Amino acid sequence: MKNKKGVIIAISAPSGTGKTTILKEILRDIPELVFSVSATTRKKRDDEIEGVDYFFITEDEFKKKIERNKFVEWEKFYDYYYGTYKSFIEDNINTGKSVIAEIDVKGALSLKKIYPESVLIFIYPPSFDELEKRLKKRNTENDSDFKKRIERAGMELRLKEKFDYFVENKVLDKAILETESLIQKIIHGGK
Ligand code: 5GP
Repeated sequence: MKNKKGVIIAISAPSGTGKTTILKEILRDIPELVFSVSATTRKKRDDEIEGVDYFFITEDEFKKKIERNKFVEWEKFYDYYYGTYKSFIEDNINTGKSVIAEIDVKGALSLKKIYPESVLIFIYPPSFDELEKRLKKRNTENDSDFKKRIERAGMELRLKEKFDYFVENKVLDKAILETESLIQKIIHGGK
């Protein structure tokens, strides 16, 4: 059998666009795709699982890992750090498994610089108003974090053009199907 490297995919979207929901469905339907578990210093939400959704670590631990060059890329926003583990990506792609990283727009662009062959997918909301409404409904952030996420969404939407593929999340089921068929094509049928 040919020893083919796995593909690296990054999926980004402004907070509240629904990318976590979309990604969960996709991971269920495409078992050969591995989710890149990031490290973060933000607090765990009730429905999240350590080592599955994130590795929840302290700021001290995070900074040590930056010094030791453990991250392919990392970003600090909303007062918290988020980083993609280099070993996680490398171990998987070198054994032929494709990896999907759910990371912010800037992180995705950094990833592309290091792995130019990686593929970036951007999920976008039908409108800015709709995004604000969804994030409010989700109700997972305090007022200050909510405001920061909305402000950041503007910047992220402006950087969208640098991505390879775009999926609008207007109707969730449709967005899931569209993203899934795109990823199948990327993994199995080249770009
Ligand atoms: P949340 O706090 O809602 O889980 O994530 C906030 C933002 O951090 C999201 O846009 C998410 O995609 C991004 N994020 C999660 N992990 C990483 C990572 O490892 N690197 C970067 N750059 N962003 C990440």
